[in-house]
Amino acid sequence: MKALATSLTFTALLIGVLPLHAQSFQDFIAVDGPVIALINAKVIDGTGVPARDGQTILIEGDRITAVGSNISVPAGANRLDMAGYTVIPGLIGLHNHSYYTGGKGRAAQLSFSGSRLYLASGVTTIRTTGARAPYEELNLKREIEAGAAIGPTIFATGPYLTGEQGSRTMTRLQGPEQARRVVRYWAEEGVSWFKAYTWISRAELGAAIEEAHRHGVKVTAHLCSVGYREAVALGIDNLEHGLFANSEYAPNKVPDQCPPGFRNTYADLDVNSPEVQATFQDMIQNDVAMTSTLVVYEISVAGRPPIDERVYEVLAPEIAEEVREIAIARRAGQGAIDPEMFAKAMEYERAFVRAGGTLAAGVDPTGYGAAPPGLGDQRNYELLLEAGFSVPEVVQIMSGNGAKVLGILDDVGTVEAGKLADLVVIEGDLEELGNLHRTKIVFRHGIGWDSSKLIDSVRGVVGIR
Ligand SMILES: [Zn+2]
Repeated sequence: MKALATSLTFTALLIGVLPLHAQSFQDFIAVDGPVIALINAKVIDGTGVPARDGQTILIEGDRITAVGSNISVPAGANRLDMAGYTVIPGLIGLHNHSYYTGGKGRAAQLSFSGSRLYLASGVTTIRTTGARAPYEELNLKREIEAGAAIGPTIFATGPYLTGEQGSRTMTRLQGPEQARRVVRYWAEEGVSWFKAYTWISRAELGAAIEEAHRHGVKVTAHLCSVGYREAVALGIDNLEHGLFANSEYAPNKVPDQCPPGFRNTYADLDVNSPEVQATFQDMIQNDVAMTSTLVVYEISVAGRPPIDERVYEVLAPEIAEEVREIAIARRAGQGAIDPEMFAKAMEYERAFVRAGGTLAAGVDPTGYGAAPPGLGDQRNYELLLEAGFSVPEVVQIMSGNGAKVLGILDDVGTVEAGKLADLVVIEGDLEELGNLHRTKIVFRHGIGWDSSKLIDSVRGVVGIR
């Protein structure tokens, strides 16, 4: 707490006025202290190895200083008995926008509620992966770092880079020179990633990547006009949405064009075919990870289980009503993604990992609004289990692998001595579906936040602010 208090004072001096809500941050802190010992925990450490029981995790300041079954706890440490609890690394969300879209065409920056929901749900680091309001994102990131706002560590992205058909908030590129100019400007303003979008051309994407790399910035993409193998050849760093955004197997694919309706032609795609394996090998050899975002598509798939009631409970009431209506209609099959395609997308991600690929995950709180920040990440966890990954594998996908993609694995992503104390404390075992909902405490940089209190503080305003 001392560190937080100091940084608040520092920020107050810096900006001259303490944000109104800053004084009450203390109310959301469940545990602090210069030395904290989590005793008797079941630990799933984010490296993919099986859970270990009876572990002690020692936290000193903002770091983990020891993990093991035989750790001596210093006198005066704040001891927490974790019998019956599971501890995992803070989740790293790689497709975790700072904005939300949902209901009937609504869109809003969720700098207040989204940031708190991410942290409350165990997501301690996000990459925003496409910004509608890049300055709001950069400022929010800096406020969180200074202790003036509550939220996860943010890797901010520049505005979307797309072709002529992108939405009004995106950079509708008119050639490679513009791509370079936009990338250069935002790289100098401090973003660390860009996201290319569905209608970008190969020439524009290549120019954007080259300019980004020149500035030490990386590029991911939600593609359609460009295939995965083409993007890898152009030097892309990450690819979003797995099979949902890879048009290269579509029979009607034309260079630089997004083939309409290609997804539902994939139900019979053979993931062991030379074609698909060639995509995987290109990605693996060039160190290009794939980001799984199953949850954002689930709303559009007929026959899926109802949306988590917690989603409707946090959304602003009028948005909740609209999302419920849309979810019911889409689940009934209106313009839906075929269930076979959804299953194929899961199989594609499993095959990618089997081939040696790095799979990470993110929520993507856009589309029809059924996957808000954090709560949607928790649903992703369940969908990855359904896809056939084991519990330790899913934890690794959602933590260690995300850290690897962001280049911060030395500092976070696993439960290991020397790393920042970004940890999630969950009541019960994670093999049981839905248990991520029982997230109790989320440590970020050694400060343990009370998950329920954070969620309560945003109830009814998610989707608005
Ligand atoms: Zn997105």
